[in-house]
Amino acid sequence: PIKIKNEVIGVLDIQSVKLNAFDESDLTTLTTLAEMIAIAMKNSFLYEETKYLAITDGLTKLYNSRYFYTALQKELERSKRYGHSFSIIIFDIDDFKKYNDKYGHIAGDQLLQELARLTIKNCRNTDIIARYGGEEFVIILPETKYNGAIKITETLRKEIKKRSFKINKDEKKCKITISLGIAIYPDSADNIKDLVKAADQALYKAKQAGKDRWRVATPANQVR
Ligand code: GH3
Ligand code: MG
Ligand code: MG
Repeated sequence: PIKIKNEVIGVLDIQSVKLNAFDESDLTTLTTLAEMIAIAMKNSFLYEETKYLAITDGLTKLYNSRYFYTALQKELERSKRYGHSFSIIIFDIDDFKKYNDKYGHIAGDQLLQELARLTIKNCRNTDIIARYGGEEFVIILPETKYNGAIKITETLRKEIKKRSFKINKDEKKCKITISLGIAIYPDSADNIKDLVKAADQALYKAKQAGKDRWRVATPANQVR
């Protein structure tokens, strides 16, 4: 048996066509080999686990902002090479501070988790969704221009607005809204720093205009 922490995770099966091919000393050798395999497998699991943790947000299990920037750079290079477009959406919960003050931080955390699930449900599986900051999320939409980005943005805004979020284990439910900023490569900006800045500024404009809405940054940093 190959064991990690007393749990059998595999079996080393050695066979021979010869009768009585193995003796006691072979058993000792093979036991040592099984132990070595177990250590290698454990290290491999640990490596995978560490890799997962390094790119994942602990609360929502979405990608973290570190991964977002890596993926964004990759998407930009790919789109540049093929002459394609892509979009990013940054969104932020409206008046989330008040929500926390009213219902507590734990309820706030639960809402963030549910919001993450709802976002995944409303995006395509080629989209990359990350928790950008505390209550800010970001989506990379490959191969998506103005019309496609707005369609997803509006769907997401409406879906979240109509949803009632559970507060703790009570039956009590609460409503929230979000504001969103969209930036499109290459119309809004041609590098990742300016693209994120453009989406951020568009989000800011949406907040200023009264929240629960979206704005697009295009062309080159002009928000409309
Ligand atoms: P606005 O509509 O302008 O976005 O108002 P706001 O209150 O949502 O925005 P602001 O950025 O001022 O506050 C963000 C709040 O989000 C602060 C904090 O209470 C809450 N928050 C940030 N991260 C977390 C988190 O991980 N868990 C919980 N429960 N709350 C968080
Ligand atoms: Mg915020
Ligand atoms: Mg907010």
